[in-house]
Amino acid sequence: MLRVGLTGGIGSGKSTIARLLAERGAVVIDADKLAREVLEPGTDGLAEVAKAFGEDVLNADGTLDRAALAAKAFASEEARQTLNGITHPRIGALTGQRMAEAPEDAIVVHDIPLLVERDMAAVYHLVIVVFADSATRLERLVGSRGMDRQDAEKRIAAQATDEQRRAVADVWLDNSGEVPDVTALWDRLVGFEKNVRTQSYASGAPKVVPYDETWPAQALRIARRISLAAGGRHVEHIGSTSVPGLAAKDVLDFQLAVEDVETADGLREALAQAGFPYVGPYEDTPRGEGGWDKRLHAGADPGRRVNLHLRVEGAANWRWAVDFRDWLRHDAQAREEYANLKLELSQRFAADGDGFAYGDAKEPWMVAAVRRVEAYRGGQAS
Ligand code: ATP
Repeated sequence: MLRVGLTGGIGSGKSTIARLLAERGAVVIDADKLAREVLEPGTDGLAEVAKAFGEDVLNADGTLDRAALAAKAFASEEARQTLNGITHPRIGALTGQRMAEAPEDAIVVHDIPLLVERDMAAVYHLVIVVFADSATRLERLVGSRGMDRQDAEKRIAAQATDEQRRAVADVWLDNSGEVPDVTALWDRLVGFEKNVRTQSYASGAPKVVPYDETWPAQALRIARRISLAAGGRHVEHIGSTSVPGLAAKDVLDFQLAVEDVETADGLREALAQAGFPYVGPYEDTPRGEGGWDKRLHAGADPGRRVNLHLRVEGAANWRWAVDFRDWLRHDAQAREEYANLKLELSQRFAADGDGFAYGDAKEPWMVAAVRRVEAYRGGQAS
């Protein structure tokens, strides 16, 4: 199963995109709909609300009088929290139940307006943000939905900003004009779901490309997912994509710090479920004394290549990854040498599918770099 979060500002077009994905076969869970369901007549949620806010929040027929509840619940922060305390756990439980009921191979799209406000991005395999600029959204809400202009403006202002939403967006769908075509997105989701279910990782031989300014933000999103799956353990963006300005293969590398290799093995299933299946045990090339074991995982998303290295915190290979990155960040000359070398080798070994010959050819420069990194490390320590 693939868990996809779908969010966007009010009136951006979430429901429109959810419908397009449902037509292709996605199982859509609509958070707004569940929020209504937990307060339907006969639910213990509605009974709790009536107890907390008074029977006058009910209509004569026993249904919820939404306007009456809103007047009371939004009167103070405390009242708002009381209402959320009743509804949120119930909505959460119902969401979990709907996810559990979905078929094993489902692509579940959770249409959740407050994904950013609730800080939920890391629980999904992928987050889609539907964007429309606020003027367009206002026009749609007032025009086609008949919402009061001031009310619409107030709601837009109360929500997360476009910038906050951009930070969580693995996929950014611009719905300011024509409704975007979701064909390529759907193909990606299908491939991603299959990989998660079969614990396969995305493969292929990536080319060296110029530095991409969006790499750090992409890495932050993915690191949070990995860390959540790994019980909050520390995750760092390492490798060439973590060095601003450096050309690199478009594969984001991460290092997850573990206490020992047994812990790494214990995390295998949780990481696979989160979209980072196991590749194998490896020994890194020693650059220093001791501690070269690692467990390699890789990303299942065909639209975003990821390598995830589980190394024992404090071991020589763990430290090398961090120091080598920091040295390259610090030393412009080293960065340029390394970039030139990689470009030359990637051209020379363009036909080399597994990247081993490329890796071997980099070795002499890497070996020579050990001293330079040590010197840098010494300089930092003094
Ligand atoms: P809400 O936050 O209220 O749930 P939403 O983000 O789900 O809203 P939709 O209901 O999908 O948004 O779209 C809002 C309105 O804009 C609807 O009337 C919809 O038909 C219209 N709409 C959506 N996308 C476009 C588009 N690209 N061009 C024109 N109108 C659109």
